[in-house]
Amino acid sequence: MLEIRHLNASYGQAQALFDVSMDIQIGSMVLVHGLNGAGKSTLLKSIMGLMPGASGQISWHGQAFEKLAPHERSKKGFGYVPEDRRLFAALTVRQNLEIAMPSQAQKASLHAESLHLKDVLDLFPSLRGMLDRPASQMSGGEQQMLALGRTLMTQARMLLLDEPCEGISPVLVQSVAQALEKLKKQGFTLLIAEQNQVLSRMADKILRMNSGHLTETM
Ligand code: ATP
Repeated sequence: MLEIRHLNASYGQAQALFDVSMDIQIGSMVLVHGLNGAGKSTLLKSIMGLMPGASGQISWHGQAFEKLAPHERSKKGFGYVPEDRRLFAALTVRQNLEIAMPSQAQKASLHAESLHLKDVLDLFPSLRGMLDRPASQMSGGEQQMLALGRTLMTQARMLLLDEPCEGISPVLVQSVAQALEKLKKQGFTLLIAEQNQVLSRMADKILRMNSGHLTETM
């Protein structure tokens, strides 16, 4: 279980998270709903270790986690897909995926069954036909699939996804939603920030944030 207790985070003098506590069960899909500026992205960044000065306790499988650097959290199986996706625009789809793959030595130290290029392409079949295309020449939805695929290639099992269905065509929203449902069935844990409540029907838990506070748990 991921346990978060009394998490606070700020940008300079401006506090963006206030005393946020939550539990996330392994293998569950948890959504964080909230309007613009509610603190959803800040929550995901704090869990990934990307908010310097954040305070509070985070534990993963009962072990303290909050002092680890982002790359150490990544080695523990955490993967973050930011809203802007941060793909390598000039690299091809294949290169974007392969670059994320851990080395053989790193793979040997991983507990989870490794996930390969083929598994990502099975999850997102439409990427198969565009392996040699630069990421810059993909639609927003295709880029979202690639960003998710790239994070899976790092062997992440705890996925922190910022607005995975935002700004993409309805058909591709369906593809992304189906892939997320499959990942959940395969035992991945998903914490997803979303404003438009597209994924509500498949969530195990829905949290609501408002002005940096966790206001409601369903
Ligand atoms: P959105 O749905 O618009 O992405 P959000 O719920 O993810 O919103 P956050 O991005 O976490 O909200 O923002 C929380 C608060 O922190 C907001 O008041 C926002 O203005 C502020 N904030 C976010 N990023 C920065 C930044 N880089 N510098 C300063 N303030 C920031």
